[in-house]
Amino acid sequence: MLLGMRALWALLVVSLLGATGCTTPEPRGTSAESAHYEIRTDQGSARFSRSVAQAAEQAHAALKRLYGDEPVSSFPVVVYTDQRAFEEQLAPALRAKGFVGECEDHYALVLWRDDDKGKDTLAHELVHHFNAELLPDIPYWLDEGLAKALAPKRTAGDWLEAVATLREDELRARLRTLDSLPEGEDYSVRCLVAAAVVRFALETGDLADVRALEKWKLRPDDFLKWLRGRRGNLSKRFQPVWAAGS
Ligand SMILES: [Zn+2]
Repeated sequence: MLLGMRALWALLVVSLLGATGCTTPEPRGTSAESAHYEIRTDQGSARFSRSVAQAAEQAHAALKRLYGDEPVSSFPVVVYTDQRAFEEQLAPALRAKGFVGECEDHYALVLWRDDDKGKDTLAHELVHHFNAELLPDIPYWLDEGLAKALAPKRTAGDWLEAVATLREDELRARLRTLDSLPEGEDYSVRCLVAAAVVRFALETGDLADVRALEKWKLRPDDFLKWLRGRRGNLSKRFQPVWAAGS
């Protein structure tokens, strides 16, 4: 009887996931399993999937130190090196945005353009995974801000410097609308402002670990002062994933 109920429940869950497009994609290449991840790729090389699993574990170890905790269950990561096949897995609304995509907390979808970009994207998605498991109630801006601040794209230049060049009235206006993300205009600029706010909180907030951000409150005047006067030294404790993990 119990088994019957469980089977029925499993069927229901599977059909719900299917209905929302959350069935884990099957890229038909090699797979690899590590302590915390199930990696599926579109590449025939077993070495490739093993190297992705290794990168995931490296990012995971760095994130575990930053969060002071870790998700318990094994997490599927689907990696495409073929952009067209990757985009077919995205919801139509996301395709044009070049999103890398996560399906709520079910799996991460990563486009692996090359080793550096692939690892950065993977780390970004794993921040979302940590947030979904350890900080499930945080607002969107904090979720995305954390992913950008802890796993910045190394090829994208100094994003914090770019935020610092925004005019003060513009910055204040962006800060006021952070809570409405992902709705509204200037999605990508506001996500960068969110990341700058997270960086500010990590640098100055006297936080025990990343989870303490949940109760942290932004004071816009202090943030703006910090953004203008900062010396560019990141604190040792909250370095980005790849700096902390190597
Ligand atoms: Zn993201």
